Amino acid sequence: MAGAVLVTGGAGYIGSHACVALIESGHEVVVLDNFCNSHPEAIRRIEEICGVAPVTIQGDIRDRALLDELFSAHNIESVMHFAGLKAVGESVEMPLAYYENNVAGTLTLLQAMDSAALSSIVFSSSATVYGDPASVPINEHFPLAPTSPYGWTKQMLEQVLTDWQRVDDTRRVALLRYFNPAGAHPSGRMGEDPQGPPNNLVPFVAQVAVGKRDKLRVFGDDYPTPDGTGVRDYIHVLDLVDGHVVALDYLQTHPGLHTFNLGTGSGVSVLEMVQAFAAASGRDIPYEVVDRRAGDIAECWADASRARDLLNWEANRDLAQMCEDTWRWQQGNPGGYR
Ligand code: NAD
Ligand code: UDP
Repeated sequence: MAGAVLVTGGAGYIGSHACVALIESGHEVVVLDNFCNSHPEAIRRIEEICGVAPVTIQGDIRDRALLDELFSAHNIESVMHFAGLKAVGESVEMPLAYYENNVAGTLTLLQAMDSAALSSIVFSSSATVYGDPASVPINEHFPLAPTSPYGWTKQMLEQVLTDWQRVDDTRRVALLRYFNPAGAHPSGRMGEDPQGPPNNLVPFVAQVAVGKRDKLRVFGDDYPTPDGTGVRDYIHVLDLVDGHVVALDYLQTHPGLHTFNLGTGSGVSVLEMVQAFAAASGRDIPYEVVDRRAGDIAECWADASRARDLLNWEANRDLAQMCEDTWRWQQGNPGGYR
C-alpha cells in the first residue's frame, strides 16, 4: 500500500482543508503542527467531515529529533509543507523569527527527509514572490522581487528546493504560488480562524458582517484600477487544495521541479468583494476609505494556464460561493475554533 502524506501545518487554514482533500482522495495523512497559529479542534473537524482522524503529532518542523522519529515510525511517502509564519506586516517587525521558522525550519525538514530517503515535496509558496508586477496577469516566468521578509522566505525556499532537487533527478518538487486564498469548507465546520484582528480582506469583511467589527477600512481608492481600490485574485480554498492533490499526483509521474501559479485568472476589487459579501450574507458591510496600506500593490492576478495545461486543474468555484461558504463558517463559529 502507498505510504502516507506528511502534512506540516495541517491544523492551519489551508493545511486542514488539504487534509480533507487528501483523505477524500484516498490518501493516508499524518499531521505535524505546533499549533502556534491554529487549534487542535481543527483536527477534530477534519475527523467530523471525513470520518477519519489524521494521525496528529504536536511538534515543530525545527525539531530534527522529532522529525527523524516521525519518519521512522510512519510510512511517509511524500510531504505537503504548509507550516510557516505568514503575516507580512509581522515579518517586517520580526524578520529573524520569520527566517528562523520558515527558512531554518524547512532546512531541518529537508535534512530529515534526506536521512529518510524521501524525495517528494509540495511547497506552499506565494504570489508575494512576484512583488509589484510590471503587468498582469502574472505568469511563472515573471521576475521574482519580494518586498517583505515573509516574501523573501518564500523566494529563498524556492531557491533551496531548486538546488536540493538538482542534486538528484529522482527528486520531485512542486512550488505552488498561491494568489489570495479565501472561503471555507461548505459544511461550515472548517475555515480560517485568525488570531486577533484579521490582516486579510475576506476574514475582516466576514467579521464586519457578523457584527464583530464596526466597519471595514478600505486601504485606498486612488489606485489605477477600475474603481480605484486594490484588485486581487481570490481563490476558493477548496480549489486551492484540489490543486495540491493533483500536483502531488503529477509528481508521481514527473520527477523534477515544477512551479505553478494557483489562482483563478481574474481580479476582484475591494469594493466588488464588499458587494459580493453583502449579497451572500444579507448584511450591510459599512466601510470607510482610508489611506493606502504601506507596501500594497494596485493589482495582482494569475495567469494560471500552466496549471490548467499540465495539471488539468482549474479553479471552478466562483466569488458568490466563496462568500457564502465564508459566511456559513463565520456565522456558525463566531469565535473560531475556540
Ligand atoms: P496558518 O497559519 O493557518 O497555517 C500554518 C500552520 O503551520 C499553523 O497551524 C501553525 O500552527 C503551523 N506552524 C507554523 N510554524 C510551525 C512550525 N515551526 N512547526 C510546526 N508547525 C508550524 O496559515 P495558512 O494560511 O494555512 O498558510 C499555509 C501556508 O501557505 C503557509 O506556508 C503560508 O505562508 C502559505 N500561504 C498562505 C497564504 C494565505 O493567504 N493564507 C497565501 C500564500 C501562501
Ligand atoms: N484591504 C483593505 N482593508 C483591509 C484588508 C485589506 O482594503 O482591512 C485590501 C488591501 O489593500 C488589498 C486587498 O484588500 O487591496 C487584499 O488584501 P489582503 O491583505 O487580503 O491580501 P494581499 O494584499 O496580501 O494580497
